[in-house]
Amino acid sequence: MPTTNTAVQQESNFINGEFTKNTTGNWIPVYDPSTEEIIAEIPDASTADVDQAVAAARHAFDEAGWPQTTAQERGRILFRIAEKIRAEAPMLAELESRNAGKPIVEAEFDIADAATCFEYYGGLATKISGTVNPVPDNALSLTLKEPVGVAGQIIPWNFPLLMAAWKLAPALAAGCCCVLKPAEQTPLTVLKLAGWLSECGVPPGVVNIITGYGEQSGAALVTHPGVDKVAFTGSAAVGKIIMRSAADSLKRVTLELGGKSPNIFFADADFEAAIDGALFGVFVNQGEVCSAGSRVLVERSIYSKFVEAMTEKAKKIVLGPPLDRDTKMGPLVSKEQFDRVRSYQELGKSEAKTAIGGNRPKNFDLGYYVEPTIFYDVDNSARIAREEIFGPVATVIPFEDEKDALKIANDTPFGLAAAVWSRDIYKALRMVKAIRAGIIWVNHMQPTYVEAPWGGYKQSGFGRELGLHGVDEYLESKQVHINLNEQPI
Ligand code: NAD
Repeated sequence: MPTTNTAVQQESNFINGEFTKNTTGNWIPVYDPSTEEIIAEIPDASTADVDQAVAAARHAFDEAGWPQTTAQERGRILFRIAEKIRAEAPMLAELESRNAGKPIVEAEFDIADAATCFEYYGGLATKISGTVNPVPDNALSLTLKEPVGVAGQIIPWNFPLLMAAWKLAPALAAGCCCVLKPAEQTPLTVLKLAGWLSECGVPPGVVNIITGYGEQSGAALVTHPGVDKVAFTGSAAVGKIIMRSAADSLKRVTLELGGKSPNIFFADADFEAAIDGALFGVFVNQGEVCSAGSRVLVERSIYSKFVEAMTEKAKKIVLGPPLDRDTKMGPLVSKEQFDRVRSYQELGKSEAKTAIGGNRPKNFDLGYYVEPTIFYDVDNSARIAREEIFGPVATVIPFEDEKDALKIANDTPFGLAAAVWSRDIYKALRMVKAIRAGIIWVNHMQPTYVEAPWGGYKQSGFGRELGLHGVDEYLESKQVHINLNEQPI
């Protein structure tokens, strides 16, 4: 729907090192979800805009020499980006908090993590190297590591700048060029970053940012013949569409999708730490976390006491404006997300028992706030236990013993993350080995380090971000055979 609202900041696509004019004249409103006010507008990019961005990235990759830049130089550029993010961190955190609705304290962590991600891959740029293969003596066999080319990168709204960092930093370290599409709800911080790329030394066309809806500009990026690889983070439903459409041109695809992660509490766990871990696991960032511990599995012998203690502590969670430093939970990101989570809250009332929450909070007339919600006596076959809600809704499920816990934990289409809480190291490690998920925490929930791989099993996607694995996804392996005999054959 075309709109023009000159009272708010109108943003631009960033193509070939410049912010460009809106070619369609169509604008997408960007909201502050705590007030429901429009705080900016972004271009609804057309397929022609995507063509232009991909052409710029192709030129930077094929002709302007980005892949031939020395690894040292690419590393220094990434360090400069990290420094710039650190220097601008207070402004970025405030903007992120305002646009995504996340508590300012959490936004500050995200921005610091984004800087660390650029720094990590800045250091890694000079460590990317190939191998010598142990073939018979009459030849020298090498594996060269080369950038995959132009990467089309599509990200969600829950950690806007951080998700952009997870995509851009390893791609640039590898020598790739990028066209990134942020979520239409939360494009503001990555557009700020775009404005600093040139001063950090990123040549024109190496990074391009396209703003727009997924069905149009996102889809155009996925099917574009000039894109060599698609890196997507988002829902499983859209991940399936992307995989299908990328198949036509056989693009490389990596998918970081949703989850329904089990947070498993044995009776011998430290009780206080366990309650905090259960609440943090599902309520941090309003539950808008792919690895949220939304299925809280509790051993029967502590079950009633656990639900009671969780409920009492949940009553103390402070809902409020994201920029208020006392706020522990802000609004959901959008009206659409609010409606979705509200519908699951209503469904939960018919599928299970409600310990707390289940509604819009009474004292909030404006903003997309929902109450932190705990459903208990949930059967693992209920929809609230199987489908990703992506909001502050915990489903507490009792289990009888280790075998039962494992069966319930793995009975899900997803496999992103899991946590196990126990003082029995043997039991904890048996669970670690048997759970089918890409990330397992023991006596902890949600810590994420740039040094360690991140990604899912099953319908949580494939490919890994972060760590050494993250850069591998942007590299091709080229085999080189060098004959050592003067008379070949
Ligand atoms: P979404 O799938 O609706 O959208 C994600 C991105 O894809 C957006 O930029 C959107 O515009 C774009 N998109 C939508 N339709 C498209 C299409 N047909 N073609 C191309 N692009 C399209 O997800 P969301 O609601 O923005 O984010 C929430 C989801 O992201 C949750 O499922 C969450 O679990 C997942 N997530 C996963 C991770 C992870 O690391 N595994 C991290 C964060 C979020």
